[in-house]
Amino acid sequence: MLYAQIHLTLPVWVHDHVDTTRAYPGDEAKVALAIELSRLNIQAATGGPFGAAVFDAHDRIIAVGVNRVLPHTCSLAHAETMAYMLAQGRTQRPRLNQTLDGAACGPVTLATSSQPCCQCYGATVWAGIDRLLIGARAEDVESLTEFDEGPLPADWIGELERRGIRVVRDLHRDAACAVLRAYGEQGGAKY
Ligand SMILES: [Zn+2]
Repeated sequence: MLYAQIHLTLPVWVHDHVDTTRAYPGDEAKVALAIELSRLNIQAATGGPFGAAVFDAHDRIIAVGVNRVLPHTCSLAHAETMAYMLAQGRTQRPRLNQTLDGAACGPVTLATSSQPCCQCYGATVWAGIDRLLIGARAEDVESLTEFDEGPLPADWIGELERRGIRVVRDLHRDAACAVLRAYGEQGGAKY
């Protein structure tokens, strides 16, 4: 049998826990939402300890994502890639900060509970975002859980900034680490 389609979903609880009617002004509020998603994802046992959200120029949610690797047996289903794919589907823009005519429509922001792994780093280069907001660092992920973040360019922040993506780190880092720690203490990569 030849598979010819893919189908990825977020857990149904996102509809009860994500308020799409409000704005999330400021970097801290955006990352706080991403971390809350990561916490809810392990609490509900619907994936790994990672959450992300894409915001438009008015600080409103375009899409959210959580890790869905084990529920979907899909190594691509990380929080950041889920958020990008859902945002691109909703806006019908393969580069989120550009219309199909090439007109700028940003800034678009991705907030993520942990530093993007090498896969999500690559996805970030092409997703069309202007700002990347990060909670925990890669070394936090690797010390508190069994996840491997993979290889990144030595100057990974500089490579993003040269492509117009401003990076802000260590937002609510302690809160992000608390979720990673809780997951690690459960026995590692169960979801
Ligand atoms: Zn990733």
